[in-house]
Amino acid sequence: MKKLVSAGEILVEIMAERIGQSFLEPGPLLGPYPSGAPAIFIGQAAALGQPAGLIGAVGDDDFGRLNIERLRTLGADVSAIAVHTGQATGTAFVTYRADASRHFVFNIANSASGLIETDTAATKLLASADHVHVMGSSLFSDRAIAVALSAIETVKAGGGTVSFDPNIRREIMQASGMRTALDHVLARADIFLPSGEELFLFSSAKDEKGAVDELLNRGLSCIVLKKGAAGATYHDRHGTVASPGFAVDEVDPTGAGDCFGAAFVSFWLRGAAPADAMRIANACGALAVTRKGPMEGIFPLEAVEAFIATGKNMQ
Ligand code: ADP
Repeated sequence: MKKLVSAGEILVEIMAERIGQSFLEPGPLLGPYPSGAPAIFIGQAAALGQPAGLIGAVGDDDFGRLNIERLRTLGADVSAIAVHTGQATGTAFVTYRADASRHFVFNIANSASGLIETDTAATKLLASADHVHVMGSSLFSDRAIAVALSAIETVKAGGGTVSFDPNIRREIMQASGMRTALDHVLARADIFLPSGEELFLFSSAKDEKGAVDELLNRGLSCIVLKKGAAGATYHDRHGTVASPGFAVDEVDPTGAGDCFGAAFVSFWLRGAAPADAMRIANACGALAVTRKGPMEGIFPLEAVEAFIATGKNMQ
């Protein structure tokens, strides 16, 4: 089976217990939960049985151990996660507003995550990879950008493929070269996985069809537009496949797009038909939102298939 890798931020998430809770005053918190968009992605891919490994860095602390242990338990290759003394593991504090939007307080670039590099272990992992997945949020510093771009070049030089999820998090995407890097990654991607309005950050078109046509003409194999509870739409040169979401009670949206992307890319790499890859991806995205914590809603393939067999699609 093809092996996929990602590179980027590894952190713990600490969540306000109540919706609308402000971080301007003390209040009850939940967590720490293992997190970081590329970590969620790799954890979900591994849980589905795809060989998957992550390049990143944590501190020599309990938060780092929590992340490594969770990824290892899910079946991921953690050989390229560096453990640094003297720098703490990254953190994200998140509170949910009444309108369902999220407010984050991140410490990533100045945490152990900021020490990410293409060291010997990372080079070895990349040599065994068939596919690299890049998250926009992982382009959080010039150093992190360099790691992501070199991962793309190595995997492509070996005949591998690339997927890209913009995963825009303005609070952490402050690197001077970030915009150029986003365009650079898109130009090298085979699969593009934007969510909602992110599609229009990369196109001058005003509607979905115009933006999709423009981007497919630039050389992407396919575009999968994530649409929250409504599901997702797949586009390639041959046409479009709309796939409805599954009806679930959402308790925490964080991680849905990463789980969706991991499932779609894993099944694309296995040669699944787009409709089949989308069904699994929608199921993983739906399951992800049923648990508090970004990686708590990751399930193995058998559980996802059982959910699909009994689950209800949204109309
Ligand atoms: P992102 O997390 O990247 O912003 P979305 O919010 O679109 O992306 O979620 C990704 C996928 O997760 C969706 O395409 C859908 O399959 C699933 N999903 C997200 N929210 C829900 C929900 N409330 N109910 C069911 N499925 C959901």
